[in-house]
Amino acid sequence: MIGVTENLRKIRDLVAKSAVDAQREPETVKLLAVSKKQPVDKVLEAARCGQRDFGENFVQEGLLKITATSSEDLIWHFIGHLQSNKTQAVAEHFDWVHTIDQLKTAERLSRQRPANLSPLNICLQVNIDDEVAKSGVDAAALPELAQAIAELPNLRFRGLMCLPEYKDTFDAQRPAFAKLRTLAKSLSADGIDTDTLSMGMSGDYAAAIAEGATIIRVGTAIFGPRIVDQRT
Ligand SMILES: *Cc1c(COP(=O)(O)O)cnc(C)c1O
Repeated sequence: MIGVTENLRKIRDLVAKSAVDAQREPETVKLLAVSKKQPVDKVLEAARCGQRDFGENFVQEGLLKITATSSEDLIWHFIGHLQSNKTQAVAEHFDWVHTIDQLKTAERLSRQRPANLSPLNICLQVNIDDEVAKSGVDAAALPELAQAIAELPNLRFRGLMCLPEYKDTFDAQRPAFAKLRTLAKSLSADGIDTDTLSMGMSGDYAAAIAEGATIIRVGTAIFGPRIVDQRT
């Protein structure tokens, strides 16, 4: 089996190449290693290769890994659906939340963020394909929600995130990512600054980089298949 070290080396090369193809500086694309349903050993192996940013989808599982790796200087991103009764732990232990789609959740995080920590970085999840049963804010509701969140204390509004329907070719993958980029641009025209587009996963990150991704969230391409029934 190919290990995390080798996978990371390959992905860093591909990310750099995708950036150069898009006439971007490779350093403008941050690789977020999505470690959900992966063992702590693999997180530590990635950390030894210089990987700093990690993403988790489940609060309890994330807390276990944050504790187990506390001797490393890692940055933790919450990228799962956040239930409002789980915000306290996220406010206290994570550095970023990518999946906000309701003011109520952001308000709770703002109240619960400890004063001795730097502001919690926030991205709004956009329902980019207008899928009925999917989380994420609709494009039409975005400016008002972004404005309200940008005004909350103890949070720092960074930008937008999407999780488009999977498409299997580069050309078919681009439009959803282009749409997120356009939405961020129109926010800045409204005076709401963003510096983050969180988009692209193992199967589509090259297209996301072509459309301006600043954070790509990559799991299986780094860590291999997830453990389906890991008890956490
Ligand atoms: C699991 C997950 C990823 C990573 O997916 P891979 O296909 O394994 O790269 C990225 N973003 C979110 C929101 C996820 O839930």
